[in-house]
Amino acid sequence: MLSTAQNLIRQAGRKLGLDDETIEKVISSNAEHIFEVSLKDGRSFPAYRVQHNNKRGPYKGGIRFHPEVDLDEVRALATLMSFKTAAVGLPFGGGKGGVSVDPRQLNKEELEHISREYVRHLQPHIGPDKDVPAPDVNTNPAIIDWMVDEYQVLTGDKSGASFTGKSLEHGGSLGRDAATGRGGVIVLGQYLKRHKTDRPLTYAVQGYGNVGSFFAALAAGIHPNWQLVAASDSQTALYNPDGLAAEELAQFKAAGGRFSNYEGDKLQKLTNEDLLELDIDVLVLAALGDAVNKSNVGHIKAKYIVEMANGPVSDEALETLEQAGVVVLPDILANAGGVIVSYLEWVQNKNNEHWHLQKVNDQLKDYLVKATDEIIDLAKKHKVPLKQAAIMKGLLALS
Ligand code: NAD
Repeated sequence: MLSTAQNLIRQAGRKLGLDDETIEKVISSNAEHIFEVSLKDGRSFPAYRVQHNNKRGPYKGGIRFHPEVDLDEVRALATLMSFKTAAVGLPFGGGKGGVSVDPRQLNKEELEHISREYVRHLQPHIGPDKDVPAPDVNTNPAIIDWMVDEYQVLTGDKSGASFTGKSLEHGGSLGRDAATGRGGVIVLGQYLKRHKTDRPLTYAVQGYGNVGSFFAALAAGIHPNWQLVAASDSQTALYNPDGLAAEELAQFKAAGGRFSNYEGDKLQKLTNEDLLELDIDVLVLAALGDAVNKSNVGHIKAKYIVEMANGPVSDEALETLEQAGVVVLPDILANAGGVIVSYLEWVQNKNNEHWHLQKVNDQLKDYLVKATDEIIDLAKKHKVPLKQAAIMKGLLALS
């Protein structure tokens, strides 16, 4: 993952005519904090915070709790965060953190203990103007609320701006839950608008979780001529060529349902692989990395792919798709809605304000329309695909 990210940056840097020294300087991280967090019973877990680049503002990036977290993964994700915040024009840098732990093996007290320990170790290095972490895989507003509280106990900071992704009661922002899915709808909509493609489209969503379900439910309201025809969870894909009810499916999943138990007229049940290969216009990838890869790329029929997960199209697959003229809307643009609303949360906390939802959504749209336009223009200017153009935009801002 780290070498993939770095190779993308090197390629884009050479295309921009940057020298190797400049490129390697942007690739290298400013600081790496490596420590252990321990439970009272003596169990301990490796923990990390990589602070990649703060040229544009405080480091920004999530903290994940997962047994497979390691230093290379955290380095890669921190690097991509610097490029994501730069690509969408936020005054933030990039960072990432993690604890190599399986949170399912911890009870609530242990989870809280690990969360607070993590902050006790990092406190001198983080803060509203230094490094502002957020939730990521297996971390959530409840965990972030403990972390903010610990930071406040240690430093007296009452702004809440030390972390984003807090619960609404503790200073979180309206609109954060839907922000990533909404962002994807804005980016695809703007791309199509720029290319004067306003004909009806069919699309499929791989991964109908938080991001995928908000994407589809919001798209149904904003773009009624985009028709959701397939959606999947980890086990089952639902397919109806006449269209699926996006909001109803979102409610079904939010209530803990499994698509294998969902019934409906004319509904076909497919595998996740089948969903990827459907003859549709747009494929929205909102589940995992490498979903489209060397082995299945030859079967993809969609004309547009929206990367809502991080890296859902592998390097090799990306090259094949680009040669075939498939447009891939890159992750650092398409899934940046979450970090944009995180930034808006931080601004609200700093100013002791609570914005109404419309203001948050309007600002989210402004950031993403502008970034999409700039990345399309850069791609045209340098005759490169959007992914490379998005990295170029980051490089220009960071070098
Ligand atoms: P989530 O856990 O809510 O949803 C993931 C969905 O993918 C679930 O429906 C799950 O059943 C499904 N899934 C899991 N394995 C699958 C498989 N093999 N095939 C098909 N579907 C599968 O997670 P989320 O918050 O919606 O995030 C989705 C992706 O977007 C992740 O890769 C995440 O890192 C990325 N992302 C999320 C955010 C955010 O704000 N939540 C921001 C940026 C990127």
